[in-house]
Amino acid sequence: HLYGKGRRNSRGVDLTDRRAVEPLGAAMQSAAERGWNAAPLIDGKAQSGSERKVMDPADHGRQVGTAIWATQEHVDKAMRSASAAAQRWAATPAEDRARCLERMADLMEEHMAELMALCTREAGKGLADGVAEVREAVDFCRYYANRARADFSAPEALPGPTGEKNEIRLAGRGVFVCISPWNFPLAIFCGQVTAALAAGNAVLAKPAEQTTLIGHRAVQLLHQAGIPMDVLHLVPGDGAVGASLVSDERIDGVAFTGSVETARRINQTLAQREGPIIPLIAETGGQNAMIADSTALPEQLVMDVIASAFQSAGQRCSALRVLYVQDEVADHILQMLAGAMEDLVIDDPAWLSTDIGPVIDEDAQGMLQDHIDAMRKRAKRVIGEAALGPNTGKGTFVAPIAFEIGGIHELEKEVFGPVLHVVRYRARDLDKVLDAINATGFGLTLGVHTRIDSTAEYIASRVKVGNCYVNRNQIGAVVGVQPFGGEGLSGTGPKAGGPRYLHRFATERVVTIDT
Ligand code: GLU
Repeated sequence: HLYGKGRRNSRGVDLTDRRAVEPLGAAMQSAAERGWNAAPLIDGKAQSGSERKVMDPADHGRQVGTAIWATQEHVDKAMRSASAAAQRWAATPAEDRARCLERMADLMEEHMAELMALCTREAGKGLADGVAEVREAVDFCRYYANRARADFSAPEALPGPTGEKNEIRLAGRGVFVCISPWNFPLAIFCGQVTAALAAGNAVLAKPAEQTTLIGHRAVQLLHQAGIPMDVLHLVPGDGAVGASLVSDERIDGVAFTGSVETARRINQTLAQREGPIIPLIAETGGQNAMIADSTALPEQLVMDVIASAFQSAGQRCSALRVLYVQDEVADHILQMLAGAMEDLVIDDPAWLSTDIGPVIDEDAQGMLQDHIDAMRKRAKRVIGEAALGPNTGKGTFVAPIAFEIGGIHELEKEVFGPVLHVVRYRARDLDKVLDAINATGFGLTLGVHTRIDSTAEYIASRVKVGNCYVNRNQIGAVVGVQPFGGEGLSGTGPKAGGPRYLHRFATERVVTIDT
């Protein structure tokens, strides 16, 4: 039962049901009014320091809370405490560790409204994304609890020809540093941290600087769920805090999700520091394509392109960046796409009627704006554009846009936002398209729309990606059933939400007894 016997995915909230939505909205509103304050949490105690204002990406005049970042002194204190606690936690039965994770899952379901409010106000997430975010975090907890029970409870006997008793067991490595991104501020944060904890490690968690409040709330709930205070510490801050964490000789592993550039820097730092050689589990970016041939169902295709490219304002590493459409059907499909884009509602993410909220901050908006300006000059044409809603003036919003270009090779880097590039291809050039996609070096997601099974199978077997989706959108991998993660420039593996994820956070020990 590699994928978890008796395990269920979280149900979330049905946003089409008024009876569920109205109380949720009211609870979100009152949580937001209370405000949030975050600080480094060391041995469960909030540390003092200078307070930064946390502003709402949908309205930069609206303060959401305050955050204090960790100093070198805090990092040091957390490191000492975690190092001292690691062995005790590794010796704690897997069953007890698993129960803490399950209590965390229950607590997050109880606090769903507050967590969704945080996702909306600190990270600019829409309501559907907020529900999905909490569900995924809950799923990670239950799934890793299940995997810890299955693989970490007892040694596995290895019968063989030596005449001895041989067994292999998994054990925590020591202190893990978890560095998570702002685009899944609760789900990926909890995924990394609970995997490291389930495998028996003490953890220093650094949430992205843009989403400190959410990381802080998650750590409070994990402590409430029974994770000992000295086993899990929160060390919020920017890249400088991350750099100090990964250069420390006392750490035994790093889990990182973010850009390829940062992953490379972490790798270099780990290679240069003294101390043991330790694993880096990195999930990075993508240059994700979708291929739609002339047999694709147009309505379904357009819906899936819109979701893949623009949902979450395109701020997913799984998001679609380059759509290849077969020449014969391209005019029709692109016209439909342009129409669908005009209907998108870009506005306050707290409203049910909104399709797309803001991008995370001014840096992201500036980078996207520069790319859009360059493409307006360089691209063959603009295929479609959405319009910003009336309440977007004070936030960092970017209107979705689609350009026609000559090929995926024209893009120099990942453009992390609601910008789609479209390429027409001829059926006889399919192999060239597949080669061009592989030549990017990224290997995260691929979408395929075709009603010919052999074409889908051929493409899936030729393209080097971690997650290939046929006749649907290419985002929103579900924990336990669609383990997520890429290869090449997209990440080291193993897959998050997959049966072998915890193993990389652990060390293997073999005991041989001559009987
Ligand atoms: N797991 C997410 C998805 O399938 C993407 C994660 C990320 O953006 O890092 O859409």
